[in-house]
Amino acid sequence: MTKLDADIPYLLLTPGPLTTTKSVHDAMMFDYSTWDVDYNSIVQKIRTDLVGLATESAEYTSVLMQGSGTFGVEATIGSVIPPDGKLLVISNGAYGRRIAQIAERLKLNLTLLDLSELEAVDLSRIDETLSSDPDITHVAIVHCETTTGMLNPVKEIGKIVHQQKRIYILDAMSSYGGIPINMDEFHIDYLISSANKCIQGVPGFSFVIANQKLFENTEGWARSLSLDLFDQWKEMEKGKGKWRYTSPTHTVLAFAQAMKELDEEGGIKKRFNRYCENQTRLVAGMEKIGFELLLKSELHSPIITSFIYPNHPNFDFSEFYNLMKERRFVLYPGKVTSADTFRIGNIGNVFPEDIDLLIKTIQEVCDLMKITF
Ligand SMILES: *Cc1c(COP(=O)(O)O)cnc(C)c1O
Repeated sequence: MTKLDADIPYLLLTPGPLTTTKSVHDAMMFDYSTWDVDYNSIVQKIRTDLVGLATESAEYTSVLMQGSGTFGVEATIGSVIPPDGKLLVISNGAYGRRIAQIAERLKLNLTLLDLSELEAVDLSRIDETLSSDPDITHVAIVHCETTTGMLNPVKEIGKIVHQQKRIYILDAMSSYGGIPINMDEFHIDYLISSANKCIQGVPGFSFVIANQKLFENTEGWARSLSLDLFDQWKEMEKGKGKWRYTSPTHTVLAFAQAMKELDEEGGIKKRFNRYCENQTRLVAGMEKIGFELLLKSELHSPIITSFIYPNHPNFDFSEFYNLMKERRFVLYPGKVTSADTFRIGNIGNVFPEDIDLLIKTIQEVCDLMKITF
C-alpha cells in the first residue's frame, strides 16, 4: 500500500520537514509540563538511544537543543571551539558554506576549503591544509550535502583528521538515522542532526552526540547564552532530562515515537535500504522519461537527488511544481548556483511504491506540458 492511499493531503518529497506517520502525529496530542518526571524520563531515553544508534562505545553522550538544525550547528560551532582555536570548514555546498558563515558571524578564526559542488572531495587537499596549518584545531564538514544530494566520504576524512590529531565535527543533519555511521570508528567527535529528517520526527529541536571527554572540557567557551551547548548538557545531566528554558514538549513526544518506529522498521540499516530502493527506482524512472542527473551516480546519497531542468521551452519549474502538487506530490527547488535544477527527496514515510506512482505522475505531467526529450 502506498502512503498516498492513506488520508494525507500530499506526500512530501523534500529533505524535511517530511511526511511522517499518523502514529507520530498522534503522539503529540498530550500537554506535558517540562518539570514532569515522566516527560524528563522520555528525554533521557531519547538521549541514550541517540548515542546507541551512533556508536557502541560508552564514551559518548548527547544533548538536545531547541530550534531547527542550524541552531544545533551554531550551538556546536559556538560552544566547542576554545577562544584560541581555529576551525577548518570543508565546503562543497550551501550547508558547508553555512557552517563557515556561522563561524564568521561568531568571529572565530576560520579557514574555508571551498570545493566544487559537483566533484568528489579531494582528500589530499584536506591532508595538505592540515599539514600546512598547525593552528587548525577543529575540522567541520557536512555528511550528505543536501544542496546537491552528494554523500561526502566522512570515514576517510575522519582518518585524516585523526592522524593529524584534530577534532572532528560532522553536520549529519540529513543523514543521521538514514545512513549507517559509526562515530568511534570514523573518529567523529561531534555529530549534529535534527528531529525532522531521517529519524522522521517533526521539527522543533536539534541534537548533538559528543565525545564526552572532549565535551566536558568546553565549559565557559560558548559565545551565546541560549545556544550554550555545555550548559544545556549540564542541565540535562543534573536535572535528568530537564532542558534549560521551555522545551518543545510535543516535538519530543513525536520524536520518541519516531525512534520507536525506526527500531520497529529494523534500525538504520533497514531504513537505509528502503531509502536506497526509493532512490534507485527514482533515478531509473526519471532517466527513462529523459531527465538528466546533476551528479555522477557514484557521488549520490540515497537521501535526495538533483535533476537538471529539461532543455525544452515548455518546461517551467513553478508550473511543473504546481501540477505535481495538484496530484499530491510536493517536490523541492534546486539550490546549486551553476545549473538550473530541482530536487526530489526519498526520506520520510515514503516507500518504493510511492516512487513508482511518482514516476508515472511525472510522465503524465510532462505529457500534459508537452515536454519532449
Ligand atoms: C536541513 C539541513 C540543515 C539545517 O537546516 P534547518 O533548516 O536549520 O533545519 C543543516 N545541514 C544540512 C546538511 C541539512 O540538510
